[in-house]
Amino acid sequence: MEEKWMSDARILALLRSEDDTELQALMTDARAVCDRTYGRRVFFRGLIEFTNHCKNNCYYCGIRRQNANIRRYRLTDEEIFSCCRTGYALGYRTFVLQGGEDPAFTADRICSLVSGIKKNHPDCALTLSIGEWPRADYVRFFEAGADRYLLRHETADPRHYARLHPPEMSGDNRKRCLWDLKDIGFQTGAGLMVGSPFQTEEELLADLHFLKELQPQMVGIGPFIPQADTPFGSYSGGSRTQTLKMVALCRLLLPKALLPATTALGTIASDGREQALRAGANVVMPNLSPTAVRSSYAIYDNKLSTGDEAAESRIQMENRILAAGFEPDLSRGDFSR
Ligand code: SAH
Repeated sequence: MEEKWMSDARILALLRSEDDTELQALMTDARAVCDRTYGRRVFFRGLIEFTNHCKNNCYYCGIRRQNANIRRYRLTDEEIFSCCRTGYALGYRTFVLQGGEDPAFTADRICSLVSGIKKNHPDCALTLSIGEWPRADYVRFFEAGADRYLLRHETADPRHYARLHPPEMSGDNRKRCLWDLKDIGFQTGAGLMVGSPFQTEEELLADLHFLKELQPQMVGIGPFIPQADTPFGSYSGGSRTQTLKMVALCRLLLPKALLPATTALGTIASDGREQALRAGANVVMPNLSPTAVRSSYAIYDNKLSTGDEAAESRIQMENRILAAGFEPDLSRGDFSR
């Protein structure tokens, strides 16, 4: 059934088409593939955005080093442990620590955070999303007890990568990190922004080729959303339909992957999350950061962080998922081989 979508020519035609009937058919097939592996279950992850300091200067990102128009914060170790305790009491069994590349969080400090959280909550999975490190540091994080690592490749095409990032960053190093993470044994997540500046359909196809080669356990796919204080502040953002196509294609390509219905898609479309689930996504990542800092993790404009998006509103999010015909699942939600 799904093979019919997967030739390069078919994918390019689909990415260029505005035919809604075709999109609905694609989403139906992708969802059926997800149902076969995971059923209707939707896994919950508690997201802790623990620092918005960053040494990098990615042209699209609101927490880039050169953005002076942002209130910087970093949580203390005790605040991070406290977020996890709150999340645990709310029922979460996976925590995701995400942040900018903040030199205050040395590899030693990350290791002690990881082992502290795993000691407090041995039944929980811990995911890191803290950017690019030497392989030896990734090994240390893994040995300290981290289970998973999210590092979107952003775009698989090296020239496109160079147009989204300053010269000191490279797509090759990003990919090297992903291969190392996988090799070390992390459940590894890659991913991309749909509709980022200068992106063409060929680049989206290259992203799918790269995902096929890497075989990551997780893939984050969300629309690019401009952030006013960045060099791309006046570019247009990615669309809901294009994002749904990429989620569905990714599901067909990687039947067992864990695919989040991203906050970014929920930000540009009120039904974005539900539509992503219908396209084969099976993860949501509500925000567990302390409420006082949530608005400061402004990687893009108008980011949702309250209401259903807030981890403390788990019941609201569960009700939305139930209403859309899916089953909220608060277990660790590991990749199933
Ligand atoms: N420093 C970490 C976490 C980055 S933020 C890392 O390097 O992995 C997590 C993700 O947010 C990024 O990988 C990027 O894909 C996404 N992001 C950043 N700016 C964005 C924007 N303007 N619109 C949509 N997504 C964005």
